Amino acid sequence: MLGISQSRSTIFVTGGAGFIGSAVIRHLLDTTDVSIVNIDKLTYASNLHSIPQAAAQSERYRLSKTDICDGEALRALFAQYRPQGVIHLAAESHVDRSIDGPQDFISTNINGTFMLLQEALRHWRTLSAAERSAFRLLHVSTDEVFGSLGPDGAFTETSPYAPNSPYSASKAASDHLVRAWCETYELPCLISNCSNNYGPYQFPEKLIPHMIIKALAEEPLPVYGDGQNIRDWLYVEDHARALYMILTQGRIGQTYNVGGRNERTNLDVVETLCALLDRLQPSNRGGRRRLISFVTDRPGHDRRYAIDASKLERELGWTAMENFDSGLEKTVRWYLANAPWWQSIRTAGYEAERLGLGRAPKA
Ligand code: NAD
Repeated sequence: MLGISQSRSTIFVTGGAGFIGSAVIRHLLDTTDVSIVNIDKLTYASNLHSIPQAAAQSERYRLSKTDICDGEALRALFAQYRPQGVIHLAAESHVDRSIDGPQDFISTNINGTFMLLQEALRHWRTLSAAERSAFRLLHVSTDEVFGSLGPDGAFTETSPYAPNSPYSASKAASDHLVRAWCETYELPCLISNCSNNYGPYQFPEKLIPHMIIKALAEEPLPVYGDGQNIRDWLYVEDHARALYMILTQGRIGQTYNVGGRNERTNLDVVETLCALLDRLQPSNRGGRRRLISFVTDRPGHDRRYAIDASKLERELGWTAMENFDSGLEKTVRWYLANAPWWQSIRTAGYEAERLGLGRAPKA
């Protein structure tokens, strides 16, 4: 067993106040003894209420409001906490926002990753030989770096990179930096590329919460284009489990694809959500499918993603515990039971307007 998973270990989680990062921290607090430092700039996408265990686990959990582009601040954190591992999730993550304003994506996803690598390397070089060999940095990336698939096949770890959006291009660039820091400087890094996540605590701009909240408000459900774009969905807690396994058991320098083999068209997803809501919280105005409306497509909208996760399953024994039906029902039940969580995001000013038409890209 690596030193990383021992009880006195400290793990940095960047972006731990976001959707997947908070799931990772909940998983670490609930199932391990490690200590966690959550390094997060606290952008619009963050929510500290997404880690309800934090207060009760205060001896194992620290929050540092830090921008990963701030090298000096990162250096001070590495010197103070001397972590055994880093799970790097901090990023700008919404494709539509990257079309309207790519600058923040270049800054955080590329320059921020560069800063983190530099400071992790500086820290790693101060460690003893045994500590250096136990240290790991896991960079969390997306299947979108591989571009769009035709009707058949799935992305593997050797699929060529072909990013199509400013978001996926910035993630692809960061993947290459991580690879280079591992090859050139021997910093012990791993990369994971995951399919679309869904589940509790997801910011309402993403497809599934966006549709749940609109349907509950009896508002039109805007499906992009013809609704036939296909995504491969993974329940976020399955992803969090995979990330800790990769960090502690993965092979240095390797990439692992993470996915749940749950391909669905966007229209299928929205229709399934309507059916679930009709069953769990019927509307007196009738079935929610009547709310579906087709709107102008996203520019450069990738047609299909699918992930082959067999390397992760074979090498580390990971399997997804939720299938799409069970995970989606859990998710809908969570949004119904936790309205204050998402209503407070609306109250704080999020307006759920249409983004990403690329009419007037800002810097
Ligand atoms: P998110 O947008 O919900 O959260 C991102 C977090 O990063 C937020 O808490 C934000 O405050 C923080 N952050 C942003 N810029 C920062 C900066 N400069 N310094 C420090 N913190 C900063 O994103 P998510 O959906 O949880 O995604 C997490 C990671 O997983 C991202 O790297 C994303 O590319 C990757 N990923 C996401 C998905 C998905 O379906 N959501 C799929 C595969 C991979």
